[in-house]
Amino acid sequence: MITAALIPPVFGNLLIVSTSMELVATIGCYIYFIGMDMVMYALLRFTVKYCDFQKKFPLLRGIIDTLLIMDVIQFLCNPFFGNAFTTERLDDVYGKAYYRLVPFLGQTYHRVVCYGVLLAIMIVFLVKIIRSPKIYAERYSIIFFTLIVAAVWQTLYIFSRTPIDRSMIGFGISGVLMFYFSLYYRPLKLLDRMLANIASEMPEALFFFDANEKCIWANDPAISFAGIEQGEFGTATEKLLEVFGNIGLEGPEWSSRQVIGSGDETRYYALEKRTVVDDRGRAAGSFLSIRDNTEEQKRIQREIYNATHDSLTGLYTREYLYERIRHKLEDKRDMEFYVVFVDVKNFKIVNDIFSSSFGDFALQRIADWIRSGDTENWVYGRLAGDTFGVCLPVEAFHEQELEEILSRFVVRRNNVEYHILIHLGVYKITDPNIEVSVMFDRAHLALSTIRDEYQKHIAYYDDDLRKKVLWSQHISSELHDAIREMHLRPYLQPIVDKEGKIVGAEALARWIHPKDGFLSPGAFIPVFEKNGMIVEVDKHMWRCACEILSRWSEKGKRLFISVNISPKDFYFMDVFDEIRMLTEDYGIDPSLLRIEITETVMMTEAEERMRILQQFRDAGYIVEMDDFGSGYSSLNMLKDMPVDVLKLDMKFLARGGDDERAQTIIQNIIHLSDDLGIVSLTEGVETEDQFRMLARMHCILFQGYHFAKPMSVEEFEDTFLQ
Ligand code: C2E
Ligand code: CA
Ligand code: CA
Repeated sequence: MITAALIPPVFGNLLIVSTSMELVATIGCYIYFIGMDMVMYALLRFTVKYCDFQKKFPLLRGIIDTLLIMDVIQFLCNPFFGNAFTTERLDDVYGKAYYRLVPFLGQTYHRVVCYGVLLAIMIVFLVKIIRSPKIYAERYSIIFFTLIVAAVWQTLYIFSRTPIDRSMIGFGISGVLMFYFSLYYRPLKLLDRMLANIASEMPEALFFFDANEKCIWANDPAISFAGIEQGEFGTATEKLLEVFGNIGLEGPEWSSRQVIGSGDETRYYALEKRTVVDDRGRAAGSFLSIRDNTEEQKRIQREIYNATHDSLTGLYTREYLYERIRHKLEDKRDMEFYVVFVDVKNFKIVNDIFSSSFGDFALQRIADWIRSGDTENWVYGRLAGDTFGVCLPVEAFHEQELEEILSRFVVRRNNVEYHILIHLGVYKITDPNIEVSVMFDRAHLALSTIRDEYQKHIAYYDDDLRKKVLWSQHISSELHDAIREMHLRPYLQPIVDKEGKIVGAEALARWIHPKDGFLSPGAFIPVFEKNGMIVEVDKHMWRCACEILSRWSEKGKRLFISVNISPKDFYFMDVFDEIRMLTEDYGIDPSLLRIEITETVMMTEAEERMRILQQFRDAGYIVEMDDFGSGYSSLNMLKDMPVDVLKLDMKFLARGGDDERAQTIIQNIIHLSDDLGIVSLTEGVETEDQFRMLARMHCILFQGYHFAKPMSVEEFEDTFLQ
């Protein structure tokens, strides 16, 4: 507005200066003076707005406006009343005619009003300069001083009565300045200060470099990071090199991550260098920001750690272990590795007998033990509750040493001491491409071959084992059908007395498999004993025996049948109840169904087992102790055993090849059982000599190939029941 308002006075002035015609000069004067009123009006408007005075002094502003309007009116009256001015011809001004102003009262009024307005405006600017913060004062003072210059210039012109008024140039400059300040001016110092404040308060360390890569400023975090003195920014580069080493601080834009220190002292930094370009895109300098990422990195590391490590033992979790092993195998393709499945056998007992806190403690000790073996190229973790996994180079696995350690692996806490039974299933990685989980499955499988669990702790996987597992799966899936279809059925082996007369038979399971042919118990009994399905087999065999016995008794034949009872049967059912119900169902005299148990039955819960056996005897059944002498029982135990018959197996007793010694043992057992009123039965009798010898020793019953092999029920009945 001001710039536009300046046009009339400038134009008027030009007219005055350039013309030699009185009329034109007079019109020029009108335009000039009225234009000045407009300039003042515009200047006032600008000032009010620029200085934020809109809401202040409305009355004063109204009066000034009125005075200016009156001035305009007064000038408009001049042609009629000559109240303001007239012009006077001067002849030789720079060689031409010029009309000089002759002021009257109205002109004086004009000057008073204009100077008054100007003064008021300058006072406003002065107040602003004084009251505003320093950085803002700048914008007011520049205008203030140009106004003074313009006013003084104008005054000089007026009072010097110089015909050519150049003071308009002053107003022109003020106008342009005001235009610039109101539209484009941003207080640069304020911006600088703000940016500096922001930069200072940034958590990042910021270093600013000039175009020559010399540090010219750094914020507080940067100053303390580099350990430089305030104002000594020049040394920053040197200090940064000391901290990070030569990471190429100079050069164009880049970013990098740096790790300083180690262990708990480790610090992580994210560095970023940015170039600052000027308006024309030339590099004017650069800045480097350094962010301390340590907390974030540590948090991420903690999260990764928690996700990949078992919280109790600190070992890898199963998934992560698999991943690490996969990496290791890919990394060390030329090395041979074992995968070891570490199984804590009696862990449930540990938890039950002691406490789960002792259980946790035990697991931690096992984890420590695994960790302690760690040499190069070991990878290990916790697979599940009480199982661990280790992958280690073949040459690092020392079986003897490990057997030694495992045989006396004791966990102690306070007064509690417990031998933890640990088994290791070992799989040698022959094909590194198979799934790691499959490798552990195989290592796990190897464990199933450990028979004597307290003597042997380590077992290796081989392909036969895999075949065995496939076989067990195969026959297990078919057992129910085999029972229903009677593919699984008893064969009978005669039992004879001293005269060779048949008195009974032992029922031995045979599986006439439609595809796999004739299967001996060795092919399936151990499998079912392991997975508990032996219960189905035995119940089926007992039922078959009862069915045969009932058929025989209908024919009036009083032969007994001995059935086998697996130790596992006692875990899964009430053996006595089951057999009692069967004999009742088939209406069989209990003394004809003899039950054969082995010494292992007495291994656990001996008292309870003895009670059950006594129950059988009390109910009229005859209890036979099978395979006596094959394992744990001693002659000493015999007197406490609630059994009626003792079965000795020739193959156990003749073990070791020392016939004389075997004979002595047999002789003694027979004598002892005789004394205890227990009937002795020798099985595995293969020759006439054996039979004679045993008869001489007063053995009572005999069973063996010498008399007959186990045969089908039809054959048995055809041979012995005619
Ligand atoms: P066992 O109860 O000791 O049965 C005697 C085993 O000796 C039978 O083997 C029989 O065929 C074999 N045998 C008999 N006389 C002779 C002989 O003169 N010389 C030799 N070398 N062996 C002879 P089988 O039938 O193969 O049974 C093996 C084992 O399987 C049995 O040993 C028994 O422990 C188990 N078994 C068989 N049937 C059943 C069953 O129905 N239930 C349970 N739980 N186990 C069974
Ligand atoms: Ca038997
Ligand atoms: Ca036997």
